[in-house]
Amino acid sequence: MKANRKAAGAGILFFCSASHTIWAQSAANIQRDYPIKPVPFTQVHVNDQFWAPRIEVNRKVSIPTAFNQCERTGRIDNFVRAAAVLHGENLQDKHPPGFPFDDTDPYKVIEGASYTLAVHPDAKLEAYVDGLIGKIAAAQEPDGYLYTTRTIDPQHPHEWSGTERWQNEEILSHELYNLGHLYEAAVAYYQATGKRSLLDVSIKSANLLVNTFGPGKRKIYSGHQIVEMGLVKLYRVTGNEQYLSLAKFFLDSRGGGKAYNQADVPVIDQTEGEGHAVRATYMYSGMADVAALTGDKDYLHAIDQIWNNVVDKKIYLTGGIGALHEGEAFGTNYQLPNMTAYNETCAAVGENFWNQRLFLLHGDAKYVDVFERTLYNGLISGVSLDGETYFYPNPLESNGQHQRSPWFGVACCPGNITRFMPSVPGYVYAERGDALYVNLFMSNSADIQLDNGRKIKIVQETRYPWEGDIKMTVDPEGSGPFTIKVRVPGWARGEAIPGGLYRFEDQSSSRPVRLQVNGRDEKISLDKGYATITRDWQKGDTIELSLPMPVQRVVADKRISADVGRMALQRGPIVYCLEWPDSPDKHVRNVLLTDKDKLKAEWKPNLLNGVEVIETKAAAYRYNADHQLQHSEESLRAVPYYAWANRGPGQMEVWIAAEESAVHPTPYPTLATKSKVTSSGPTMAENGVRDPRLAADGEDPTSSEDQTSYYDWLPKRGTKEWIQYDFERPATVSSVEVYWYQEPGEGAVKVPTSWRILYRDGEQWKPVEVQGPYGVAINQFNKVMFKPINTGALRLEMQLQQNASAGIEEWRVQ
Ligand SMILES: [Zn+2]
Repeated sequence: MKANRKAAGAGILFFCSASHTIWAQSAANIQRDYPIKPVPFTQVHVNDQFWAPRIEVNRKVSIPTAFNQCERTGRIDNFVRAAAVLHGENLQDKHPPGFPFDDTDPYKVIEGASYTLAVHPDAKLEAYVDGLIGKIAAAQEPDGYLYTTRTIDPQHPHEWSGTERWQNEEILSHELYNLGHLYEAAVAYYQATGKRSLLDVSIKSANLLVNTFGPGKRKIYSGHQIVEMGLVKLYRVTGNEQYLSLAKFFLDSRGGGKAYNQADVPVIDQTEGEGHAVRATYMYSGMADVAALTGDKDYLHAIDQIWNNVVDKKIYLTGGIGALHEGEAFGTNYQLPNMTAYNETCAAVGENFWNQRLFLLHGDAKYVDVFERTLYNGLISGVSLDGETYFYPNPLESNGQHQRSPWFGVACCPGNITRFMPSVPGYVYAERGDALYVNLFMSNSADIQLDNGRKIKIVQETRYPWEGDIKMTVDPEGSGPFTIKVRVPGWARGEAIPGGLYRFEDQSSSRPVRLQVNGRDEKISLDKGYATITRDWQKGDTIELSLPMPVQRVVADKRISADVGRMALQRGPIVYCLEWPDSPDKHVRNVLLTDKDKLKAEWKPNLLNGVEVIETKAAAYRYNADHQLQHSEESLRAVPYYAWANRGPGQMEVWIAAEESAVHPTPYPTLATKSKVTSSGPTMAENGVRDPRLAADGEDPTSSEDQTSYYDWLPKRGTKEWIQYDFERPATVSSVEVYWYQEPGEGAVKVPTSWRILYRDGEQWKPVEVQGPYGVAINQFNKVMFKPINTGALRLEMQLQQNASAGIEEWRVQ
């Protein structure tokens, strides 16, 4: 392989077929597998205006900057320091990594770089990755153990790591998590370059696992899943069945632990999406792999049930999953708040690993429908258009407190974007027997080999996702019939999502889908969401699919309380949002969109790298100085959700008020709303959403458990904390009103034991002279009058309950 590649001068075309050869060889030894096989991304040459530029930005910007961040933050140095210790050097700097899973970030970016190298040879990048691999290999202990925090200082590893190997694996150490990402990177690099360097490191590591864990040996499950998928990939390239067995052993060892990491009950008894969403999707993907490779029906039954629960009850319109910040977890059924939606970027990536695997098992387009929804909305929203900044959570509503960041202390999301983007072409086609599946639509030319050896070239031309016309030209080698299965997306058939959690308000407006072969109408009879055409395809035969793309109004199941009285806009696979720059008064949460308001799609080539926008007129609501509600007609523009937050922070919403009761009228500016707000608690926490300004946004809460717009001090508990308003200019104030936030259920956020108001007098903070008590009643404003004072700033100081934090919905000042 290596020699061939050199002989061919690493030409792209040859190289692609060479890497396909590896793929095919690795699959050849495997007896049982997914019934459907994806056409590898190396065979699909995307040349459209939507994906090709993104994949290029990922290659040119995201991957190099992510490597830089790994260097800058000491993540590469961790390997160098571990290697030095193994060489017997006396390290001066023995501090452990920031987190025990910091090793995974270089691994993930290596995986992304490998996919890029597979289709875009780059000697400099390859040499850099070779250098990194050298450092990783040098940090591996003689028996195969690889975990820098322990090797750097075995006596004092990261506090989550435990004093012995694997001792804390099921809780916090992430030793197996690191290895899962290592194996994935190693397989990717091997498949891309034919080089075994990182693969050999992985095999040595996996052999240590095989010798340590298994029946009659140690029993353990992964605290953060992914080693299961990684072991399966190693099995695929090595044919070593011990790796597959170990993946299954790790999965079967779950039970008796916590729901947080899907370890409360055995995996085959799980029925709902629960706990930490990224862990969950990695586990379901690993289970799908093991089910495909072993024929295990119980695994399949479990993940099918879980998928139904997630898609019927726990997914956002954007495809995002994992609604809750607390535990980065799935909520209960229909618990899908918009502003506080967590929707970690990694969970969207993991969700699509899982959807793809279920498609490969069942051949049903409903999995691709969900995949596509996530792909075009809640997944690519995770990265800015310039490829430089990332979202950790992907909320569906904002007051301006959300912004993408170039990197994170916990940097999982950027790495996941870097590895997912270059693999997108690998989700376009799949094949089974003599059938070719066309799952996604983007201009490309692909070289495909069916299971029966038949070679087909197929060219797709389309302006998708902006237009629904797709033309495919077929060029088969040899003669004889074969089948092409073209996915007819659910959204083009009046189905917003499989299962009905969301539905289009008007299903009659869409024209029917049209399918033509060689210019002649073909009757569409759907089989699992596919139009199936079997014929003796000739060179130059064309398939034209025409998917009508009217603007659709979407309504949610009434049980999603956050979406009651609201509608969303969708066109084709794209979900829209209103964003502040497109509104005359820079507010969008104050808008009422009725059924009567006309919606018009329009192409804007210079906006947000070229987007189809939706233009409309709607009523905008605001309070005047006398607290009277007023409204006026306003021109409004909706933009694709994925493209929001590329023009600075401000309001955004996906679910637009369709009834007056759902509107958030713009408050009349007050002393509080115009103040600079600071606090002793988290500000723009690293996952980008804790902003004390939410206590001063002028919005009246509906209850103390209203999670649309509040501020809390978690993880602080039992301490003394404060929040402060600095007025624009000194003012005379004589009362405050505080509406306390309380986390629903047995939450960790409760009202404080006591609080008081201080005012600034020069350099000092002095208590105001109150009349009456400082109240801590919930579900109401607690008003405190005090002797008027003229001051430039007020501070609210509070003592948190023991073992509890506190939070504020709204703090008014008069
Ligand atoms: Zn992440």
